[in-house]
Amino acid sequence: MRFSTKAIRVGQQPDPTTGSIIVPVYQTVNFTFQDVGRPHAYEYSRSANPTRTALEQCLAALEEARFGLAFSSGMAAVDGVLSLLRPGDHVVSAEHIYGGTFRLFEQVYRPRGVSFTYVDGTRPQAFAKAMQPATKLVWVETPANPLLQLVDVRAVAKIAHEHGVKLVADNTFPSPYFQRPLTQGADIVMHSTTKYVSGHSDVIGGAVVTSDERLYEAIKFYQNAAGAVPGTWDCWLSLRGLKTLAVRMKQHEANAQAVAEFLDKHPKVQETIYPGLPSHPQHELAKAQMDGFGAIVTFRLNGGVEQVRQFVKGLKLFLFAESLGGVESLACHPSTMSHATLTPEERQRIGITDGTIRLSVGIEDVEDLIEDLDQALAAC
Ligand SMILES: *Cc1c(COP(=O)(O)O)cnc(C)c1O
Repeated sequence: MRFSTKAIRVGQQPDPTTGSIIVPVYQTVNFTFQDVGRPHAYEYSRSANPTRTALEQCLAALEEARFGLAFSSGMAAVDGVLSLLRPGDHVVSAEHIYGGTFRLFEQVYRPRGVSFTYVDGTRPQAFAKAMQPATKLVWVETPANPLLQLVDVRAVAKIAHEHGVKLVADNTFPSPYFQRPLTQGADIVMHSTTKYVSGHSDVIGGAVVTSDERLYEAIKFYQNAAGAVPGTWDCWLSLRGLKTLAVRMKQHEANAQAVAEFLDKHPKVQETIYPGLPSHPQHELAKAQMDGFGAIVTFRLNGGVEQVRQFVKGLKLFLFAESLGGVESLACHPSTMSHATLTPEERQRIGITDGTIRLSVGIEDVEDLIEDLDQALAAC
């Protein structure tokens, strides 16, 4: 089966009792036992629920994995993976990662005795140099937020495995439609399904997928023990979103490419960052490792916060908001939003200038999106 067929069919057989073609919302806590010591397939919905199982099977299939686990949020999925660690363990992470992941590393796991080393994710050798005897995981996110640096998954997987270490990839930005890191050597993939997987800005969710049964069992044990499971309706919404993932991603990407090319030529734009532009320093790697370039476009305005304020005020269609991956187009200002907790020096060091704007390009008519950007740029 190919991608779209899997998205629409895997885990979604007609309901055996009624023939319902849509997986029902099994809004139930518990399931009866057939006899003493003999449960049906399900017992209690923290442990497992049929609507959740459908979502998990579908996500696993799309990532070409054997096992999937759905979580109540992307952060709960990150925490599920980190539950593999014990005090004294060490993690090598790319330095450009989601802010919430960094916070969980530094403010929750470091105080519990796990140590972290951050490296330039664009240089595979930097991962090799940072390895320690206690290293258990390598963590990468590619393309990264908000400057869209790529990690060479094959090269970093090889290095991790030479050291007996597992590689985790946060695959939220490309979605499984554009990138399947397990096929390139990653051991675990995690998602914020809040973004493209659900795709309609109406559900918070996360997922972990792997083909390693031992890792799956350990994370599943923790999930049942700690309880960060998604509600049934949220699973159902995510499953509905998944059905159109392929068509949405195609349109997201076509729109993003056109927006990036427009911005790249605009005199008020200093720099446009998009892996689909030949000027992106890792354009060749993007072509080799991804099936498409995604729909996040970052650009730098000539000028600072005042220019950004004028630009944002001028937008009529792009919504000024955090998050990404929904059908509607969004603009955000990393230095005062997602990266506001960093000091100005830290932001400077990682390249997030005050003029940096990140777009999550939606699937509206692209002519309308470009007209909107054009008039907002004229006003700033
Ligand atoms: C949003 C996001 C997360 C966190 O997911 P939530 O669903 O908000 O908990 C993790 N990683 C990336 C790359 C994200 O964009």
